[in-house]
Amino acid sequence: MQELTHYINGEHVKGTSGRFSDVFNPATGEVQAKCPLASKEEMDKAVAVAAAAQPAWAATNPQRRARVLMKLVSLLNRDMDKLAEALSREHGKTLPDAAGDVQRGLEVVEYCVAAPQMLKGEFTDSAGPGIDMYSMRQALGVTAGITPFNFPAMIPMWMFAPAIACGNAFILKPSERAPSVPLMLAELFEEAGLPKGILQVVNGDKEAVDAILYDDTIQSVGFVGSTPIAEYIYGTGCAQGKRVQCFGGAKNHMIIMPDADLDQAADALVGAGYGAAGERCMAISVAVPVGEETADKLIEKLIPRVEALKVGPYTAGTDVDYGPVVTAAAKSNIEALVQTGIDQGAKLVVDGRDFSLQGYEEGFFVGAHLFDNVTPDMDIYKKEIFGPVLSTVRAQTYEEAIGLAMDHEYGNGTAIYTRDGDTARDFANRINIGMVGINVPIPVPLAYHTFGGWKKSAFGDLNQHGPDAFKFYTRTKTITARWPSGIKEGGEFSIPVME
Ligand code: NAD
Repeated sequence: MQELTHYINGEHVKGTSGRFSDVFNPATGEVQAKCPLASKEEMDKAVAVAAAAQPAWAATNPQRRARVLMKLVSLLNRDMDKLAEALSREHGKTLPDAAGDVQRGLEVVEYCVAAPQMLKGEFTDSAGPGIDMYSMRQALGVTAGITPFNFPAMIPMWMFAPAIACGNAFILKPSERAPSVPLMLAELFEEAGLPKGILQVVNGDKEAVDAILYDDTIQSVGFVGSTPIAEYIYGTGCAQGKRVQCFGGAKNHMIIMPDADLDQAADALVGAGYGAAGERCMAISVAVPVGEETADKLIEKLIPRVEALKVGPYTAGTDVDYGPVVTAAAKSNIEALVQTGIDQGAKLVVDGRDFSLQGYEEGFFVGAHLFDNVTPDMDIYKKEIFGPVLSTVRAQTYEEAIGLAMDHEYGNGTAIYTRDGDTARDFANRINIGMVGINVPIPVPLAYHTFGGWKKSAFGDLNQHGPDAFKFYTRTKTITARWPSGIKEGGEFSIPVME
Protein backbone atom coordinates (compact mmCIF):
# COMPACT_ATOMS: atom_id res chain seq x y z
CA MET A 1 0.00 0.00 0.00
CA GLN A 2 1.48 3.31 -1.09
CA GLU A 3 1.66 6.01 1.57
CA LEU A 4 1.38 9.42 -0.06
CA THR A 5 3.11 12.49 1.35
CA HIS A 6 2.89 16.24 1.59
CA TYR A 7 5.26 18.37 -0.52
CA ILE A 8 6.87 20.93 1.76
CA ASN A 9 9.99 23.01 1.16
CA GLY A 10 10.90 21.03 -1.97
CA GLU A 11 10.61 17.62 -0.37
CA HIS A 12 8.14 14.81 -0.03
CA VAL A 13 7.32 14.77 3.67
CA LYS A 14 5.46 11.98 5.44
CA GLY A 15 2.35 12.90 7.39
CA THR A 16 2.82 13.07 11.15
CA SER A 17 -0.77 13.48 12.36
CA GLY A 18 -1.40 9.73 12.30
CA ARG A 19 -4.60 10.39 10.32
CA PHE A 20 -5.02 9.09 6.76
CA SER A 21 -7.80 8.72 4.23
CA ASP A 22 -8.15 5.98 1.62
CA VAL A 23 -7.47 6.75 -2.03
CA PHE A 24 -9.35 4.32 -4.27
CA ASN A 25 -8.93 3.02 -7.75
CA PRO A 26 -12.58 3.65 -8.66
CA ALA A 27 -12.47 1.11 -11.51
CA THR A 28 -11.61 -1.79 -9.22
CA GLY A 29 -12.86 -0.46 -5.89
CA GLU A 30 -9.46 -1.21 -4.33
CA VAL A 31 -7.70 1.11 -1.92
CA GLN A 32 -4.51 1.99 -3.78
CA ALA A 33 -2.95 4.51 -1.41
CA LYS A 34 -3.22 6.25 1.93
CA CYS A 35 -3.39 10.04 1.89
CA PRO A 36 -2.02 11.82 4.98
CA LEU A 37 -4.38 14.31 6.61
CA ALA A 38 -2.39 17.23 7.95
CA SER A 39 -2.66 18.65 11.43
CA LYS A 40 -2.60 22.37 12.14
CA GLU A 41 1.09 22.03 13.13
CA GLU A 42 1.96 20.56 9.73
CA MET A 43 0.11 23.38 7.97
CA ASP A 44 1.86 25.95 10.18
CA LYS A 45 5.24 24.56 9.08
CA ALA A 46 4.36 24.93 5.42
CA VAL A 47 3.13 28.47 6.01
CA ALA A 48 6.40 29.41 7.74
CA VAL A 49 8.42 27.99 4.82
CA ALA A 50 6.24 29.88 2.33
CA ALA A 51 6.55 33.15 4.23
CA ALA A 52 10.35 32.85 4.28
CA ALA A 53 10.62 32.03 0.55
CA GLN A 54 8.07 34.48 -0.86
CA PRO A 55 9.87 37.88 -0.64
CA ALA A 56 12.77 36.74 -2.85
CA TRP A 57 10.33 35.30 -5.38
CA ALA A 58 8.31 38.54 -5.43
CA ALA A 59 11.57 40.45 -5.94
CA THR A 60 12.49 38.27 -8.93
CA ASN A 61 11.62 40.27 -12.00
CA PRO A 62 8.35 39.21 -13.67
CA GLN A 63 10.02 38.13 -16.89
CA ARG A 64 12.26 35.67 -15.04
CA ARG A 65 9.23 34.36 -13.16
CA ALA A 66 7.42 33.96 -16.48
CA ARG A 67 10.33 31.93 -17.86
CA VAL A 68 9.84 29.37 -15.09
CA LEU A 69 6.21 29.06 -16.18
CA MET A 70 7.32 28.65 -19.81
CA LYS A 71 9.53 25.78 -18.74
CA LEU A 72 6.66 24.26 -16.76
CA VAL A 73 4.55 24.22 -19.93
CA SER A 74 7.17 22.14 -21.73
CA LEU A 75 7.50 19.74 -18.76
CA LEU A 76 3.72 19.30 -18.60
CA ASN A 77 3.73 18.39 -22.28
CA ARG A 78 6.66 16.01 -21.73
CA ASP A 79 4.84 14.22 -18.88
CA MET A 80 1.30 14.46 -20.26
CA ASP A 81 0.76 10.69 -20.53
CA LYS A 82 2.16 10.01 -17.06
CA LEU A 83 -0.01 12.71 -15.50
CA ALA A 84 -3.12 11.54 -17.35
CA GLU A 85 -2.57 7.94 -16.23
CA ALA A 86 -2.11 8.90 -12.57
CA LEU A 87 -5.20 11.09 -12.80
CA SER A 88 -7.39 8.40 -14.36
CA ARG A 89 -6.21 5.84 -11.83
CA GLU A 90 -7.47 7.94 -8.90
CA HIS A 91 -10.41 9.72 -10.49
CA GLY A 92 -11.70 7.11 -12.92
CA LYS A 93 -12.15 9.38 -15.95
CA THR A 94 -10.99 8.14 -19.37
CA LEU A 95 -7.42 8.80 -20.48
CA PRO A 96 -8.33 11.32 -23.23
CA ASP A 97 -10.51 13.17 -20.71
CA ALA A 98 -7.69 13.11 -18.14
CA ALA A 99 -5.28 14.53 -20.73
CA GLY A 100 -7.87 17.27 -21.34
CA ASP A 101 -7.89 17.98 -17.58
CA VAL A 102 -4.11 18.53 -17.68
CA GLN A 103 -4.34 20.49 -20.94
CA ARG A 104 -6.95 22.98 -19.68
CA GLY A 105 -4.69 23.69 -16.69
CA LEU A 106 -1.60 23.94 -18.87
CA GLU A 107 -3.37 26.58 -20.98
CA VAL A 108 -3.70 28.78 -17.89
CA VAL A 109 0.02 28.35 -17.22
CA GLU A 110 0.62 29.48 -20.83
CA TYR A 111 -1.62 32.49 -20.30
CA CYS A 112 0.22 33.44 -17.09
CA VAL A 113 3.47 33.72 -19.04
CA ALA A 114 2.00 37.16 -19.85
CA ALA A 115 2.62 38.21 -16.23
CA PRO A 116 5.05 41.03 -17.15
CA GLN A 117 2.34 42.56 -19.34
CA MET A 118 -0.53 41.87 -16.92
CA LEU A 119 1.31 43.32 -13.92
CA LYS A 120 2.12 46.66 -15.54
CA GLY A 121 0.70 49.49 -13.51
CA GLU A 122 -0.82 52.83 -14.51
CA PHE A 123 0.87 56.20 -14.68
CA THR A 124 -0.47 59.72 -14.90
CA ASP A 125 2.09 62.30 -15.78
CA SER A 126 1.49 65.71 -14.16
CA ALA A 127 -1.64 64.77 -12.24
CA GLY A 128 -1.06 68.11 -10.49
CA PRO A 129 1.65 70.74 -10.69
CA GLY A 130 4.86 68.68 -10.62
CA ILE A 131 2.90 65.70 -9.36
CA ASP A 132 2.91 62.23 -10.90
CA MET A 133 0.51 59.52 -9.88
CA TYR A 134 1.12 55.85 -10.48
CA SER A 135 -0.14 52.51 -9.37
CA MET A 136 1.50 49.13 -9.09
CA ARG A 137 0.16 45.66 -8.50
CA GLN A 138 2.01 43.84 -5.74
CA ALA A 139 1.89 40.21 -4.66
CA LEU A 140 -0.25 39.41 -1.62
CA GLY A 141 2.36 37.18 0.09
CA VAL A 142 1.32 33.67 1.09
CA THR A 143 -1.81 32.46 -0.68
CA ALA A 144 -3.72 29.18 -0.49
CA GLY A 145 -6.16 27.10 -2.50
CA ILE A 146 -8.53 24.22 -1.71
CA THR A 147 -9.53 22.10 -4.68
CA PRO A 148 -12.10 19.39 -5.57
CA PHE A 149 -11.60 15.82 -6.75
CA ASN A 150 -13.12 16.23 -10.18
CA PHE A 151 -10.34 18.22 -11.90
CA PRO A 152 -7.19 17.27 -9.96
CA ALA A 153 -4.85 18.90 -12.51
CA MET A 154 -6.80 21.75 -14.06
CA ILE A 155 -8.19 23.51 -11.01
CA PRO A 156 -4.95 23.53 -8.97
CA MET A 157 -3.20 25.03 -12.03
CA TRP A 158 -5.97 27.63 -12.43
CA MET A 159 -5.06 28.81 -8.95
CA PHE A 160 -1.33 28.36 -8.50
CA ALA A 161 -0.21 29.50 -11.97
CA PRO A 162 -1.51 33.08 -11.63
CA ALA A 163 -0.73 33.24 -7.90
CA ILE A 164 2.89 32.29 -8.47
CA ALA A 165 3.28 34.35 -11.68
CA CYS A 166 2.26 37.37 -9.57
CA GLY A 167 5.05 36.70 -7.05
CA ASN A 168 3.11 34.92 -4.31
CA ALA A 169 3.86 31.68 -2.52
CA PHE A 170 0.99 29.19 -2.78
CA ILE A 171 -0.15 26.37 -0.50
CA LEU A 172 -2.37 23.84 -2.21
CA LYS A 173 -4.77 21.66 -0.22
CA PRO A 174 -6.01 19.27 -2.90
CA SER A 175 -8.86 16.81 -2.64
CA GLU A 176 -7.92 13.88 -0.44
CA ARG A 177 -9.71 11.69 -3.02
CA ALA A 178 -7.25 12.52 -5.84
CA PRO A 179 -3.98 13.83 -4.34
CA SER A 180 -1.28 12.26 -6.57
CA VAL A 181 -1.37 14.60 -9.56
CA PRO A 182 -1.13 17.77 -7.42
CA LEU A 183 2.05 16.31 -5.84
CA MET A 184 3.45 15.59 -9.30
CA LEU A 185 2.65 19.15 -10.41
CA ALA A 186 4.57 20.64 -7.48
CA GLU A 187 7.61 18.51 -8.36
CA LEU A 188 7.41 19.55 -12.00
CA PHE A 189 7.21 23.24 -11.13
CA GLU A 190 10.43 22.93 -9.13
CA GLU A 191 12.07 21.04 -11.96
CA ALA A 192 11.14 24.06 -14.09
CA GLY A 193 13.13 26.29 -11.74
CA LEU A 194 10.66 27.39 -9.09
CA PRO A 195 12.42 28.04 -5.77
CA LYS A 196 11.59 25.71 -2.89
CA GLY A 197 8.69 26.75 -0.69
CA ILE A 198 6.84 28.73 -3.39
CA LEU A 199 4.46 25.88 -4.24
CA GLN A 200 3.72 23.42 -1.47
CA VAL A 201 1.08 20.71 -1.26
CA VAL A 202 -0.42 19.97 2.14
CA ASN A 203 -2.90 17.12 2.02
CA GLY A 204 -5.79 17.01 4.41
CA ASP A 205 -9.42 17.48 5.29
CA LYS A 206 -11.40 20.00 7.35
CA GLU A 207 -8.59 20.30 9.92
CA ALA A 208 -6.12 21.45 7.24
CA VAL A 209 -8.74 23.77 5.70
CA ASP A 210 -9.47 25.37 9.08
CA ALA A 211 -5.74 25.78 9.67
CA ILE A 212 -5.64 27.79 6.42
CA LEU A 213 -8.73 29.82 7.26
CA TYR A 214 -7.54 30.84 10.73
CA ASP A 215 -3.90 31.44 9.82
CA ASP A 216 -2.85 35.09 10.09
CA THR A 217 -0.10 34.89 7.46
CA ILE A 218 -2.21 33.50 4.61
CA GLN A 219 -3.65 36.44 2.69
CA SER A 220 -6.05 34.83 0.27
CA VAL A 221 -8.00 31.62 -0.16
CA GLY A 222 -9.34 30.16 -3.38
CA PHE A 223 -11.86 27.33 -3.19
CA VAL A 224 -13.61 25.12 -5.72
CA GLY A 225 -15.99 22.39 -4.57
CA SER A 226 -19.55 21.92 -3.37
CA THR A 227 -21.74 24.86 -2.39
CA PRO A 228 -22.16 24.15 1.35
CA ILE A 229 -18.36 24.05 1.78
CA ALA A 230 -17.95 27.09 -0.49
CA GLU A 231 -20.34 29.03 1.77
CA TYR A 232 -18.47 27.92 4.88
CA ILE A 233 -15.07 28.86 3.48
CA TYR A 234 -16.29 32.17 2.07
CA GLY A 235 -17.96 33.19 5.33
CA THR A 236 -15.12 32.08 7.58
CA GLY A 237 -12.32 33.35 5.35
CA CYS A 238 -13.93 36.78 4.89
CA ALA A 239 -14.55 37.06 8.63
CA GLN A 240 -10.84 36.45 9.13
CA GLY A 241 -10.10 39.39 6.83
CA LYS A 242 -8.84 37.33 3.91
CA ARG A 243 -9.43 37.82 0.24
CA VAL A 244 -11.62 34.86 -0.73
CA GLN A 245 -13.11 33.47 -3.93
CA CYS A 246 -15.22 30.31 -3.80
CA PHE A 247 -16.80 28.36 -6.64
CA GLY A 248 -19.58 25.92 -5.83
CA GLY A 249 -22.00 23.42 -7.29
CA ALA A 250 -24.15 23.56 -10.38
CA LYS A 251 -27.30 22.44 -12.14
CA ASN A 252 -26.79 23.38 -15.75
CA HIS A 253 -29.80 23.59 -18.07
CA MET A 254 -29.73 23.17 -21.82
CA ILE A 255 -32.73 24.63 -23.64
CA ILE A 256 -33.64 23.03 -26.93
CA MET A 257 -35.81 25.22 -29.15
CA PRO A 258 -38.19 23.72 -31.73
CA ASP A 259 -35.99 25.03 -34.57
CA ALA A 260 -32.79 23.39 -33.24
CA ASP A 261 -30.97 20.65 -35.10
CA LEU A 262 -32.16 17.85 -32.82
CA ASP A 263 -29.47 15.35 -33.83
CA GLN A 264 -26.84 17.90 -32.95
CA ALA A 265 -28.62 18.72 -29.68
CA ALA A 266 -28.93 15.03 -28.75
CA ASP A 267 -25.23 14.41 -29.44
CA ALA A 268 -24.34 17.48 -27.39
CA LEU A 269 -26.53 16.36 -24.49
CA VAL A 270 -25.01 12.91 -24.39
CA GLY A 271 -21.44 14.26 -24.30
CA ALA A 272 -22.21 17.05 -21.84
CA GLY A 273 -24.48 14.98 -19.61
CA TYR A 274 -22.54 11.75 -19.33
CA GLY A 275 -18.91 12.67 -20.08
CA ALA A 276 -16.71 12.10 -17.00
CA ALA A 277 -19.71 10.21 -15.55
CA GLY A 278 -21.43 13.58 -15.07
CA GLU A 279 -18.80 14.62 -12.52
CA ARG A 280 -18.21 18.06 -14.04
CA CYS A 281 -19.40 21.36 -12.67
CA MET A 282 -20.19 22.32 -16.27
CA ALA A 283 -22.01 19.06 -17.08
CA ILE A 284 -25.51 19.51 -18.48
CA SER A 285 -27.83 17.81 -16.01
CA VAL A 286 -31.17 19.23 -17.18
CA ALA A 287 -32.51 19.18 -20.74
CA VAL A 288 -35.39 21.58 -21.39
CA PRO A 289 -37.04 20.93 -24.76
CA VAL A 290 -39.56 23.61 -25.72
CA GLY A 291 -42.91 22.23 -26.93
CA GLU A 292 -44.27 18.67 -26.72
CA GLU A 293 -43.21 17.82 -30.27
CA THR A 294 -39.62 18.89 -29.61
CA ALA A 295 -39.61 16.91 -26.38
CA ASP A 296 -40.97 13.74 -27.97
CA LYS A 297 -38.49 13.88 -30.85
CA LEU A 298 -35.57 14.69 -28.56
CA ILE A 299 -36.34 11.81 -26.18
CA GLU A 300 -36.63 9.49 -29.18
CA LYS A 301 -33.16 10.54 -30.33
CA LEU A 302 -31.66 10.45 -26.86
CA ILE A 303 -32.74 6.95 -25.82
CA PRO A 304 -30.60 4.96 -28.30
CA ARG A 305 -27.64 7.27 -27.75
CA VAL A 306 -27.79 6.90 -23.96
CA GLU A 307 -28.31 3.15 -24.19
CA ALA A 308 -25.27 2.86 -26.46
CA LEU A 309 -22.89 4.61 -24.05
CA LYS A 310 -19.81 2.55 -23.29
CA VAL A 311 -18.95 2.49 -19.62
CA GLY A 312 -15.65 1.01 -18.46
CA PRO A 313 -12.24 1.41 -16.87
CA TYR A 314 -9.72 3.94 -18.20
CA THR A 315 -7.42 1.04 -19.06
CA ALA A 316 -9.79 0.21 -21.94
CA GLY A 317 -8.44 3.35 -23.67
CA THR A 318 -10.57 5.15 -26.23
CA ASP A 319 -13.14 2.37 -26.27
CA VAL A 320 -14.90 3.89 -23.26
CA ASP A 321 -17.19 6.96 -23.10
CA TYR A 322 -17.08 7.35 -19.36
CA GLY A 323 -15.64 5.59 -16.33
CA PRO A 324 -16.67 4.95 -12.74
CA VAL A 325 -17.63 7.64 -10.24
CA VAL A 326 -15.06 8.55 -7.64
CA THR A 327 -16.12 6.59 -4.53
CA ALA A 328 -18.66 4.06 -3.31
CA ALA A 329 -20.28 6.91 -1.33
CA ALA A 330 -20.72 8.95 -4.53
CA LYS A 331 -22.29 5.90 -6.21
CA SER A 332 -24.77 5.34 -3.36
CA ASN A 333 -25.69 9.01 -3.31
CA ILE A 334 -26.46 8.95 -7.06
CA GLU A 335 -28.47 5.73 -6.71
CA ALA A 336 -30.47 7.17 -3.82
CA LEU A 337 -31.30 10.28 -5.84
CA VAL A 338 -32.37 8.17 -8.82
CA GLN A 339 -34.74 6.34 -6.48
CA THR A 340 -36.27 9.65 -5.31
CA GLY A 341 -36.84 10.54 -8.97
CA ILE A 342 -38.83 7.34 -9.49
CA ASP A 343 -40.69 7.74 -6.19
CA GLN A 344 -41.61 11.34 -6.94
CA GLY A 345 -43.10 10.46 -10.32
CA ALA A 346 -40.44 11.13 -12.96
CA LYS A 347 -40.33 8.68 -15.88
CA LEU A 348 -37.08 6.71 -16.07
CA VAL A 349 -36.80 6.13 -19.83
CA VAL A 350 -33.27 4.72 -19.69
CA ASP A 351 -32.69 2.70 -16.55
CA GLY A 352 -29.04 2.15 -15.68
CA ARG A 353 -29.70 0.62 -12.27
CA ASP A 354 -28.77 -2.91 -13.20
CA PHE A 355 -25.48 -1.96 -14.79
CA SER A 356 -22.59 -4.24 -13.93
CA LEU A 357 -19.25 -4.77 -15.63
CA GLN A 358 -17.79 -8.23 -15.75
CA GLY A 359 -14.46 -8.37 -13.95
CA TYR A 360 -15.09 -4.97 -12.31
CA GLU A 361 -18.00 -5.83 -10.02
CA GLU A 362 -16.36 -3.98 -7.11
CA GLY A 363 -15.74 -0.81 -9.18
CA PHE A 364 -17.86 2.31 -8.65
CA PHE A 365 -19.60 2.16 -12.02
CA VAL A 366 -23.02 3.72 -12.50
CA GLY A 367 -25.06 2.99 -15.62
CA ALA A 368 -26.46 5.86 -17.68
CA HIS A 369 -29.91 7.10 -16.63
CA LEU A 370 -32.32 9.30 -18.55
CA PHE A 371 -35.41 10.80 -16.92
CA ASP A 372 -38.38 12.35 -18.71
CA ASN A 373 -41.26 14.36 -17.18
CA VAL A 374 -39.15 15.78 -14.37
CA THR A 375 -40.74 18.71 -12.52
CA PRO A 376 -39.09 21.50 -10.51
CA ASP A 377 -40.39 20.23 -7.15
CA MET A 378 -38.47 16.92 -7.45
CA ASP A 379 -35.20 16.28 -5.63
CA ILE A 380 -33.47 15.18 -8.85
CA TYR A 381 -34.19 18.66 -10.22
CA LYS A 382 -33.32 20.67 -7.13
CA LYS A 383 -30.12 18.85 -6.13
CA GLU A 384 -26.81 18.43 -7.91
CA ILE A 385 -26.57 14.67 -8.67
CA PHE A 386 -22.98 14.71 -10.02
CA GLY A 387 -23.48 11.44 -11.82
CA PRO A 388 -24.53 10.03 -15.22
CA VAL A 389 -28.16 11.09 -14.87
CA LEU A 390 -29.88 13.50 -17.26
CA SER A 391 -33.29 14.95 -16.33
CA THR A 392 -35.70 16.23 -18.96
CA VAL A 393 -38.09 18.98 -17.95
CA ARG A 394 -40.67 19.72 -20.63
CA ALA A 395 -41.46 23.43 -21.13
CA GLN A 396 -44.32 24.67 -23.28
CA THR A 397 -42.76 28.02 -24.20
CA TYR A 398 -39.39 29.73 -24.40
CA GLU A 399 -40.41 31.98 -21.49
CA GLU A 400 -41.14 28.96 -19.33
CA ALA A 401 -37.79 27.40 -20.28
CA ILE A 402 -35.68 30.48 -19.54
CA GLY A 403 -37.66 30.96 -16.33
CA LEU A 404 -36.69 27.49 -15.12
CA ALA A 405 -32.97 28.17 -15.57
CA MET A 406 -33.33 31.61 -14.00
CA ASP A 407 -35.25 30.41 -10.96
CA HIS A 408 -32.80 27.60 -10.14
CA GLU A 409 -30.54 28.41 -7.20
CA TYR A 410 -27.40 27.47 -9.13
CA GLY A 411 -26.03 29.61 -11.94
CA ASN A 412 -22.82 28.11 -13.21
CA GLY A 413 -23.40 27.34 -16.90
CA THR A 414 -26.23 26.99 -19.40
CA ALA A 415 -26.75 26.46 -23.11
CA ILE A 416 -29.37 27.06 -25.76
CA TYR A 417 -29.76 25.13 -29.00
CA THR A 418 -31.54 27.11 -31.70
CA ARG A 419 -31.12 28.34 -35.27
CA ASP A 420 -32.63 31.71 -34.39
CA GLY A 421 -30.14 34.49 -33.63
CA ASP A 422 -32.76 36.68 -31.99
CA THR A 423 -33.74 33.99 -29.46
CA ALA A 424 -30.09 33.21 -28.72
CA ARG A 425 -29.29 36.89 -28.23
CA ASP A 426 -32.26 37.40 -25.91
CA PHE A 427 -31.23 34.32 -23.91
CA ALA A 428 -27.61 35.48 -23.55
CA ASN A 429 -28.75 38.93 -22.43
CA ARG A 430 -31.40 37.96 -19.90
CA ILE A 431 -30.09 34.81 -18.31
CA ASN A 432 -28.72 35.18 -14.75
CA ILE A 433 -26.00 32.56 -15.20
CA GLY A 434 -22.25 33.13 -15.51
CA MET A 435 -21.30 31.06 -18.57
CA VAL A 436 -23.58 30.69 -21.58
CA GLY A 437 -23.29 28.43 -24.63
CA ILE A 438 -25.10 29.13 -27.88
CA ASN A 439 -25.15 25.80 -29.70
CA VAL A 440 -22.18 24.92 -27.47
CA PRO A 441 -23.03 22.49 -24.65
CA ILE A 442 -20.13 23.06 -22.25
CA PRO A 443 -19.13 26.72 -22.53
CA VAL A 444 -15.97 26.62 -20.41
CA PRO A 445 -14.15 29.87 -21.26
CA LEU A 446 -10.56 29.67 -22.46
CA ALA A 447 -7.62 30.72 -20.29
CA TYR A 448 -7.59 34.38 -21.41
CA HIS A 449 -11.27 34.85 -20.50
CA THR A 450 -12.54 34.27 -16.99
CA PHE A 451 -14.42 31.33 -15.46
CA GLY A 452 -17.14 31.78 -12.87
CA GLY A 453 -20.79 31.18 -12.15
CA TRP A 454 -23.48 33.34 -10.55
CA LYS A 455 -25.96 32.79 -7.71
CA LYS A 456 -25.08 29.79 -5.44
CA SER A 457 -22.35 28.67 -7.84
CA ALA A 458 -19.83 31.37 -6.88
CA PHE A 459 -19.01 33.62 -3.94
CA GLY A 460 -16.73 36.63 -4.28
CA ASP A 461 -16.41 39.23 -6.98
CA LEU A 462 -13.59 37.99 -9.19
CA ASN A 463 -13.56 34.97 -11.48
CA GLN A 464 -10.89 32.35 -12.03
CA HIS A 465 -8.10 32.78 -14.61
CA GLY A 466 -8.00 35.47 -17.30
CA PRO A 467 -7.39 39.07 -16.22
CA ASP A 468 -9.40 38.59 -13.00
CA ALA A 469 -6.76 36.19 -11.66
CA PHE A 470 -4.09 38.89 -11.83
CA LYS A 471 -6.40 41.15 -9.82
CA PHE A 472 -7.25 38.48 -7.27
CA TYR A 473 -3.61 37.59 -6.61
CA THR A 474 -2.29 41.16 -6.31
CA ARG A 475 -3.23 44.31 -4.47
CA THR A 476 -3.03 47.78 -5.92
CA LYS A 477 -0.79 50.42 -4.44
CA THR A 478 -1.17 53.98 -5.72
CA ILE A 479 1.61 56.48 -5.31
CA THR A 480 1.36 60.24 -5.58
CA ALA A 481 4.82 61.76 -6.01
CA ARG A 482 6.13 65.28 -6.15
CA TRP A 483 9.79 65.94 -7.04
CA PRO A 484 11.78 67.81 -5.94
CA SER A 485 10.23 71.17 -5.09
CA GLY A 486 6.67 72.10 -4.19
CA ILE A 487 6.68 71.34 -0.50
CA LYS A 488 9.26 74.06 -0.02
CA GLU A 489 6.63 76.60 -1.21
CA GLY A 490 4.81 76.04 2.10
CA GLY A 491 2.12 73.79 3.55
CA GLU A 492 -1.31 73.09 1.94
CA PHE A 493 -4.22 73.18 4.38
CA SER A 494 -7.26 72.48 2.23
CA ILE A 495 -7.95 69.29 0.26
CA PRO A 496 -6.35 69.46 -3.21
CA VAL A 497 -8.99 69.82 -5.97
CA MET A 498 -8.72 70.18 -9.74
CA GLU A 499 -9.93 73.65 -10.79
P1 NAD B 1 -16.17 19.03 -1.79
O1 NAD B 1 -16.85 20.29 -1.43
O2 NAD B 1 -16.57 17.77 -1.12
O3 NAD B 1 -14.58 19.16 -1.53
C1 NAD B 1 -13.84 20.22 -2.05
C2 NAD B 1 -12.67 20.51 -1.12
O4 NAD B 1 -13.16 20.91 0.15
C3 NAD B 1 -11.76 19.31 -0.90
O5 NAD B 1 -10.43 19.73 -0.91
C4 NAD B 1 -12.18 18.81 0.48
O6 NAD B 1 -11.13 18.20 1.19
C5 NAD B 1 -12.62 20.09 1.17
N1 NAD B 1 -13.65 19.84 2.18
C6 NAD B 1 -14.59 18.86 2.16
N2 NAD B 1 -15.38 18.93 3.26
C7 NAD B 1 -14.93 19.98 3.98
C8 NAD B 1 -15.34 20.58 5.21
N3 NAD B 1 -16.37 20.11 5.91
N4 NAD B 1 -14.67 21.65 5.65
C9 NAD B 1 -13.64 22.14 4.95
N5 NAD B 1 -13.20 21.62 3.79
C10 NAD B 1 -13.83 20.56 3.30
O7 NAD B 1 -16.29 18.89 -3.40
P2 NAD B 1 -15.86 17.68 -4.31
O8 NAD B 1 -16.83 16.55 -4.09
O9 NAD B 1 -14.42 17.42 -4.20
O10 NAD B 1 -16.12 18.30 -5.76
C11 NAD B 1 -17.37 18.26 -6.39
C12 NAD B 1 -18.10 19.58 -6.23
O11 NAD B 1 -17.29 20.64 -6.73
C13 NAD B 1 -19.38 19.64 -7.03
O12 NAD B 1 -20.36 20.30 -6.25
C14 NAD B 1 -19.01 20.48 -8.24
O13 NAD B 1 -20.07 21.16 -8.87
C15 NAD B 1 -18.05 21.44 -7.64
N6 NAD B 1 -17.17 22.04 -8.62
C16 NAD B 1 -17.39 23.34 -8.92
C17 NAD B 1 -16.60 23.95 -9.89
C18 NAD B 1 -16.82 25.40 -10.23
O14 NAD B 1 -15.95 25.98 -10.85
N7 NAD B 1 -17.92 25.99 -9.86
C19 NAD B 1 -15.59 23.23 -10.52
C20 NAD B 1 -15.39 21.89 -10.16
C21 NAD B 1 -16.20 21.31 -9.20
